[in-house]
Amino acid sequence: MATSRRIKELEVMVADVIVETPDTATLVLFTGNDRLEYSAGHFLTIDPHQFEALERFTSFLEDLKGRREPPRAYSMCSAPHERYLAVTVKEERYVSGLTKFPPLLSPLLTKRTTRGMRLVVTGFTGPYTLPADIESKANHIVHVCAGSGSVPNFSILKHALANHPTLRHTFVYSNKKWDDVIFRDELAKLAAQHPDRLRLLHTLTREEDERVFGPTVRKGRLNEALLREAIPSPSECVVYVCGPGISKFDLAAARQAGTAPPSRFLESVLADLKALGVPDKRVKREFYG
Ligand SMILES: Cc1cc2nc3c(=O)[nH]c(=O)nc-3n(C[C@H](O)[C@H](O)[C@H](O)COP(=O)(O)OP(=O)(O)OC[C@H]3O[C@@H](n4cnc5c(N)ncnc54)[C@H](O)[C@@H]3O)c2cc1C
Repeated sequence: MATSRRIKELEVMVADVIVETPDTATLVLFTGNDRLEYSAGHFLTIDPHQFEALERFTSFLEDLKGRREPPRAYSMCSAPHERYLAVTVKEERYVSGLTKFPPLLSPLLTKRTTRGMRLVVTGFTGPYTLPADIESKANHIVHVCAGSGSVPNFSILKHALANHPTLRHTFVYSNKKWDDVIFRDELAKLAAQHPDRLRLLHTLTREEDERVFGPTVRKGRLNEALLREAIPSPSECVVYVCGPGISKFDLAAARQAGTAPPSRFLESVLADLKALGVPDKRVKREFYG
């Protein structure tokens, strides 16, 4: 089906709000009788102008920035075979001295959205999907995510476990603390249901409770050694990397300071994958600016 036919505006109702972590919520969306045509890994967009509660912030930010606030993209955490459509949103924080503007939409979606609320969403699109012939190209999918970067990968994982029986998965997931791990229990449940097809590898950069660490929960930043462990055969896998990367704002700030922008999660994972010999065409990436 042509992409343009899939992109449409939908009025949806929030059927449930699931608090995943202290700063992250899943919005389960009821879409009525609309037939949903999306692929695992697709995203939808939400225009902040539709929220009366944001009106003054939106106008003020538009005055400050000198441009219209664009719709924000949110990947589906649901998979197409599931009954409801769902997105998972992590609240962006304003950090005094570091963040240029207060984040507009994610605080409302995570903290002030309630059951029964109506929203207009536009969807569905995005290149971060499994090709239909994936089983002829790979036998192993390696998911490499940080923070809310797990959202499309969770959808792809659920879809592939249900529909691509020859694929094994390794889900490498970086967070600050154990309580920041989105879908923690659902991932563990899937791993228990598919012990031969799914391996989880968490890594935590700021956890102080030693009791959480073990064979599947490592300490420290995601590095080449952990990726080497996850990828024994670089030419038989396809890697799906999703997380924060250098944004256009980082680039502008670095240009002004006359420095190079520091690598973020995405750039450092891509460099490690290159060092491990994973061919570039076997690496799919989704960038959360
Ligand atoms: C394809 C895609 C899929 C995504 N999926 C998800 C998802 O599943 N879950 C999720 O939580 N997020 C996802 N995101 C991120 C999401 O779209 C939003 O970027 C995020 O929620 C922040 O939006 P906000 O309105 O709260 O913050 P914004 O108002 O967009 O602000 C974010 C940051 O940008 C800075 N900024 C904004 N404008 C400027 C400017 N003009 N100059 C300098 N700095 C500026 C702000 O200071 C702030 O630090 C996705 C992004 C993409 C591209």
